[in-house]
Amino acid sequence: MNDKKIQGQNSNFNTENQRTSLKYTTTRTSHNQKAKQDVEDLPYPFSATIKVVGKFDSTMIKVISTFLFIAIILSIASSSIGDLEDILCRDVMIIGRREWGSQSETTSAKNISDPYLNVNFVVIHHTRGDNCSTNTECKQRVREIQRFDMDVLEKKDIMMHFLIGGDNRVYEGRGWGVVEEDIPEHPFALSIGFIGDYDTMNVPNAMLYSAQKLIQCGVKKKMIFKQHRVYGHRDVRCTTCPGDKLFKAIKAWASYSQDNNIIVRC
Ligand SMILES: [Zn+2]
Repeated sequence: MNDKKIQGQNSNFNTENQRTSLKYTTTRTSHNQKAKQDVEDLPYPFSATIKVVGKFDSTMIKVISTFLFIAIILSIASSSIGDLEDILCRDVMIIGRREWGSQSETTSAKNISDPYLNVNFVVIHHTRGDNCSTNTECKQRVREIQRFDMDVLEKKDIMMHFLIGGDNRVYEGRGWGVVEEDIPEHPFALSIGFIGDYDTMNVPNAMLYSAQKLIQCGVKKKMIFKQHRVYGHRDVRCTTCPGDKLFKAIKAWASYSQDNNIIVRC
């Protein structure tokens, strides 16, 4: 009898436990379904990862995953910008101002608000004086040119935006997106100076190639307008620059301009 009662009590007890367990299971299931749905709504791969971590509160998971997602996107974006810069100008070796020992790391000349729309002139110069054939020599020449432009000509900075060395490297002068001081009539022109005197000396093809690659790089970086035209300095001012030999060489470029409205008659 006692055994039966105990069995009955056990039976009741078991039934109660089962009910509680069923209720608990039902609640958990409902909660889990909502959490599961929340996780399903997350972007892949977070939805796949978070399904494994069922114990976390779904809101917390969403916050953490959103934070991670943003961090990853920012990281990918910043590395992509660096890679893109390299791809755009990978065939041009540009020696920066700090590398050649500029008097200041950045130029004090004024910036152009929208280079892509404004910089539609590229003007070719020669620097006269000695040429250079090694990186060390060319860096020395660029430092001398900057000193002359600033101390003797009293310009804000080295006048050329870029210089082409006899070592076929490109030396950053004022750099992209900065106004021209030497040709006030065309303040938005981009000046490229070939280091050396090319009145009688032939211009090595590799130097011409470096200048053309630099211009293409500027167009890709949206620092030179795609439909730009190239001029020799003597086209826009009464000067012998860029020397007979260099002038003859750039006249063969497809982008060289024959625009009579621009060309100066001395
Ligand atoms: Zn010139």
